[in-house]
Amino acid sequence: MASEISTARPEDDAVLSGTVSVLIPLALPKPYDYKVPPGMEVRAGSYVVVPLGTQEIVGVVWGEGSGEVGHNRLKAIGEVIDAPPMPGVLRRFIDWVAQYTVSPAGSVLRLAIRAPGALEPPRMRIAYRLGSQRPPRMTPARQRVIEVAGDGFARTVRELAEEAGVSDSVVRGLVASQVLVQVDIPAEAPFPDPLAAVKTVSLSAEQGEAAARLAAAVAARKFSATLLDGVTGSGKTEVYFEAVAAALAQGKQVLILLPEIALTSQFLERFERRFGCRPAEWHSDLASRERRRVWRGVAEGRAQVVAGARSALFLPFSDLGLIIVDEEHDAAFKQEDGVPYHARDMAVVRASLGHLPIILSSATPSLETSVNVQQGKYDVVRLAERHGEALLPQVSAIDMRADPPERGRWLSPVLVTEMVKALAAGEQSMLFLNRRGYAPLTLCRTCGHRIECPQCSAWLVEHRFRRELACHHCGYTAPVPKACPSCGAEDALVACGPGVERIAEEVAEIFPEARIAIVSSDNLRGPAAHEEIFAAIEAREIDIIIGTQIVAKGHHFPWLTLVGVVDADLGLENGDLRAGERTYQLLQQVAGRAGRAERPGRVFLQSFMPEHGVMRALVSGKRDEFLAREAQARERVGLPPFGRLAGIVVSAPDAALAQRVARDMARIAPRADDVTVLGPAPAPLALLRGRTRLRFLVKAGRQVNIQAFLHAWLDDFKVPNAVRISVDVDPYSFM
Ligand code: ADP
Ligand code: ZN
Repeated sequence: MASEISTARPEDDAVLSGTVSVLIPLALPKPYDYKVPPGMEVRAGSYVVVPLGTQEIVGVVWGEGSGEVGHNRLKAIGEVIDAPPMPGVLRRFIDWVAQYTVSPAGSVLRLAIRAPGALEPPRMRIAYRLGSQRPPRMTPARQRVIEVAGDGFARTVRELAEEAGVSDSVVRGLVASQVLVQVDIPAEAPFPDPLAAVKTVSLSAEQGEAAARLAAAVAARKFSATLLDGVTGSGKTEVYFEAVAAALAQGKQVLILLPEIALTSQFLERFERRFGCRPAEWHSDLASRERRRVWRGVAEGRAQVVAGARSALFLPFSDLGLIIVDEEHDAAFKQEDGVPYHARDMAVVRASLGHLPIILSSATPSLETSVNVQQGKYDVVRLAERHGEALLPQVSAIDMRADPPERGRWLSPVLVTEMVKALAAGEQSMLFLNRRGYAPLTLCRTCGHRIECPQCSAWLVEHRFRRELACHHCGYTAPVPKACPSCGAEDALVACGPGVERIAEEVAEIFPEARIAIVSSDNLRGPAAHEEIFAAIEAREIDIIIGTQIVAKGHHFPWLTLVGVVDADLGLENGDLRAGERTYQLLQQVAGRAGRAERPGRVFLQSFMPEHGVMRALVSGKRDEFLAREAQARERVGLPPFGRLAGIVVSAPDAALAQRVARDMARIAPRADDVTVLGPAPAPLALLRGRTRLRFLVKAGRQVNIQAFLHAWLDDFKVPNAVRISVDVDPYSFM
């Protein structure tokens, strides 16, 4: 568990000699010392190949050697890689993230060099241009190739054949007779320069003022954090684009962080309209070649703007001048596996270390950010109006106790009546239910048995289209059984509760003529499928959209006027500390999809507790009051952001072993002022992928160094190989 921060901090690109410390991208506690062979030029930040055990591995020169091991017993660096050294600010950032998340620095380094091939020499591809020879025998096909190549540009065989409209063999023949000569050209496309001057929208007075304030923050060339707080549809993107333009005009690079699913072609096209080209992209679907190209382009300062998911934060920007975090409240910024970090919080740290401005944009800011604004740590720029004629939607709650659906149905007659009206007016409706599949639970009517995952403590979800039961935690699937697996009763299994597929079934019965689309991750595999469905919605080829959270974010559907939330209470069920806040944010985002153009929007929340604070805030639109109440409640009990939390999960394939280790851990927990250790207790997901899980929660005062406490507790605690202990500072998931 140990992790140590190296303290060597030579200047960013100082040439080093003698002994250096090299950080290796593995879960090792600290950098190791290596010798610099005479004559080799090694700088702080150089990527180097070093021997480790019997392997050779790429690491990064972290600083001067520690001197712990005598020089003559050290191994030597094998080779320095030809790439710009890792900037000092990124090295300091990696150390910072490692320290904060109580993770080995090498594990954080891995996030920063996770671009396969990025450190290999630039790949070339073989192309041909016209030489001085002419073919021994001219044919019309050959003539066409020679004409195409006549412009002097090098092309591949394929490109020449395509442009000339001939077969590859014609081109190869010309290569054989040396009419075409071989040249090597870089395999990668260059990055186009976004132009700050291309401008297609004129800003409203309110927008213009907001944009000017953000541009002023960029002009100051120092650290500042600004919340761009604007209602959905107010033009936040257009406004922060002006800050991007200001940074580009300074010749600086810009990073725009987005939740992965908000990185759509709609967003990229908007960027292109404003800047004349697309930004470089960085996300998990990127092909490895493209990953390499972007990584190199960023390192060499050729890629000016990157729009990326959270891991883009670890790219080696050579001259970063601005960070934007769009939808800053989004829980998708929290990385749960490996090194658990919150990209929004770490982006603020990155900006501060790099002395540059950061803009956090949201219609529903996180409580953390709102409190920072209130305490004067962050600036705030507000947009109170929707752009143009669009008004904010009218939100109402449907009391499901007073207006219940018919037996076996899920939509209240009040909502159905509204859908009839929208359909008659040729407008689109959207039903939102954050539950994939057909039914979340399958139950035996005879014995009451609930079908659970054999490897997780979770119910199996029925997916009727795929005719199977699936575990949403581990991916286990099984066919839907005919008889109850427990008592053997035939035809006794019933689906309990709705998922989007079941709502779609109900809608198809009520509106047989309507064009319906289910939008959930099960129905849409890959970005192309997303684009297709969103294009169909924009083109009004769909009347009723039934979607999970995929539809909640960022999309702009001008014909969508009615939003029905099937189960507004759903997110409140798991009562973790952010349940209210997150339900509010999600439903407010969903509501914001309605009425984004001329036609006014209406939103209906089906709820069994319309008197709940979250429902009241959504209906009244009094967001700030809601946030203030949430803040008070958390402050009273010392929860974040007014106190600190860390979650620790102990897991093992064998329940007794997990329990024994957790008990041993509890016994040696240090005592410290203002720190409480709760647990161990079975995690809500007590079994996951066959591993038994027990949780501790460390609760500490704001002033407590919770990392030091965790190190003191865990650094020397030895655990058997089969046991995993994962530490999550500032946890968002309490499962
Ligand atoms: P937000 O991010 O605040 O929800 P967007 O930036 O997506 O808002 O803007 C909502 C819609 O209004 C988009 O289609 C956008 O192109 C349009 N829009 C916003 N401001 C302007 C403007 N000044 N001129 C023209 N269109 C605008
Ligand atoms: Zn499972």
